[in-house]
Amino acid sequence: MNCPVCETAMTEEDFGGVSIDICRNGCSGIWFDWFELEKLDEKHEGLGNALTAALQSSRAKDDNRGKIKCPKCFKPMMAHLYKSAKEVTVDECYLCGGFFLDSGELKVIRENFMTEEQRESYVNSIIEGQPDFQEAKKDLEKQKLRTAAIKKLTKCLRPSKYFKR
Ligand SMILES: [Zn+2]
Ligand SMILES: [Zn+2]
Repeated sequence: MNCPVCETAMTEEDFGGVSIDICRNGCSGIWFDWFELEKLDEKHEGLGNALTAALQSSRAKDDNRGKIKCPKCFKPMMAHLYKSAKEVTVDECYLCGGFFLDSGELKVIRENFMTEEQRESYVNSIIEGQPDFQEAKKDLEKQKLRTAAIKKLTKCLRPSKYFKR
């Protein structure tokens, strides 16, 4: 299999029970088949010299690279932030579930791993920071006030109030 970034033939290596493809002679990018990355995205997961070496490779700049194609399906991969790391953009193939990580990204992912709860509060903090969300929230507040006002008004109009003895 050839590297989707630099087209060098990738080498199969063992990261402690998980066999991955790495661009050892090229850009040091790593290919993970479906679910392989999940087995290695936490700091205590995996072991061995190959993994240690991969974790030492320096971080590549992939910001302006654009779309790459899946080395297996040859379909464009989707670039998005990795679920458990705050600032790593990974390439995922929605067809085969494979991930391509540029040099150094695995290390950052492992170091920034978030638990489900941490992730949820992080996502919430992003949403809260969105101007659109704040606007929508204001509208909701307004709506609440309006509803309260209408309720008050209808309460005043309730006949019982006027026929009380
Ligand atoms: Zn490469
Ligand atoms: Zn694929």
